[in-house]
Amino acid sequence: MAIMRTHYASGITPGMNGDTVTVAGWVHEIRDLGGICFLVLRDREGFIQVTMVKKKTDPALFDAGRRLNRESVVLVTGVVKEANQAPNGYEIIPEILNMLSEAKSPLPMDVTEKVGADIDTRLDSRFMDLRRRKMLAAFVIRHHALIAVRNFLTNEGFIEIHTPKVVAAATEGGTALFPITYFNREAFLNQSPQLYKQIMMAAGFDRVCEIGAIFRAEEHDTLRHLNEATSIDIEASFADHFDVMGILERLIHDVYAHVSRQCKPQLSALGIDLFVPELPFRRLTYDDALEIAHQHGHDIEWGDDFGTAAERAIGSAVGEHYFIINWPTEIKPYYTQAYDDAPRYSKSFDLMHPRMELASGSQRIHSHDLLRQRIAACGLDPGGFDFYLKAFRYGMPPHAGWGLGTERLVMTMLDVENIRDVVLFPRDRKRLSP
Ligand code: ATP
Ligand code: MG
Repeated sequence: MAIMRTHYASGITPGMNGDTVTVAGWVHEIRDLGGICFLVLRDREGFIQVTMVKKKTDPALFDAGRRLNRESVVLVTGVVKEANQAPNGYEIIPEILNMLSEAKSPLPMDVTEKVGADIDTRLDSRFMDLRRRKMLAAFVIRHHALIAVRNFLTNEGFIEIHTPKVVAAATEGGTALFPITYFNREAFLNQSPQLYKQIMMAAGFDRVCEIGAIFRAEEHDTLRHLNEATSIDIEASFADHFDVMGILERLIHDVYAHVSRQCKPQLSALGIDLFVPELPFRRLTYDDALEIAHQHGHDIEWGDDFGTAAERAIGSAVGEHYFIINWPTEIKPYYTQAYDDAPRYSKSFDLMHPRMELASGSQRIHSHDLLRQRIAACGLDPGGFDFYLKAFRYGMPPHAGWGLGTERLVMTMLDVENIRDVVLFPRDRKRLSP
């Protein structure tokens, strides 16, 4: 028995009237009106109405059809019939109906969008939750957004790399690391490809990018943090922070433009009218941003990070994507370059969406001695960084780069409230399964 479909829902048109097709998918709905039974089949691309008229259908098939459970998997071979009253302008008159996998009843959740479910119920039965059209639409868009990222960076001369996720040392120190056992040694899951992408500058690859998992052991409980996220990282030699900010804003613009062109059905399923942000993005200095925060009653001292509430206030004052540049050196990581003439300030930036931070980047220190000194000054043991520091001793070009959160990019683009809705199987403090 063949189990391959000939057409997706989207591949059938009323003009195919009289053709025999095989379609396959999930039983979305059964409407049994006695003399006539409608079976709505759902596949990845849409819905197909299968119409069984009692008088004209083989009795065994009619009986099997009306007794199907919702969400069972079926394969239907039948004839396309133009039908104005059907949702897509056609229906399928079945000749063969194969139930390939029966769905038990009751279902763990409803996938027809008629009954909402809370986030835990949805995550517990994630495969089922992902059958919802809006979920599929969001992940198709995520896919196209990443294609746009790769195409853009390839055109800009970046080489995609894959750096290790199991590492011996913390990137930035601190406690935000998941320790693991590596044979008889302690190791960690990498919190960022930072050190490795910088080493690749010493390798002479000039421009590298990576799209990969990052692990942060922070005990967040927010709608914008995960413990495992997907970072889009770049590092570029012979470039400063302003150069890589230019790359970043053009990348954001390109991703929006690509998605708005390529994902019209998905955007409309989500009810989104995507607006492509205009370039260049505004650049506020940290001091400007602090001033706005103060005007809105947020009492933040110079040298502190803004925090969620102030970030929101600044974001709504600006109203579109923007950069915060020239951060205090003391709150940026040790590898960040300071301005020679004003060492309290660093050659650093965050890219902000009005709702939240999307990316952080900077020009990096490329002097071995200064870097070693900065590591020590941050209270870290330079000995643990030998593998990294070594790359700075035999010809390290000046370089700059950034890390952009894929989930943050997608959730802000699609106006999704909870970051958990733009990853398939979120990892947060409470959830390790599925
Ligand atoms: P935040 O201040 O929002 O917690 P961060 O400044 O600690 O973020 P960076 O180390 O600058 O994060 O990482 C670069 C980017 O990676 C962030 O701007 C964000 O888009 C993404 N990112 C970092 N940590 C997380 C996380 N826990 N969950 C989701 N995305 C993250
Ligand atoms: Mg940051």
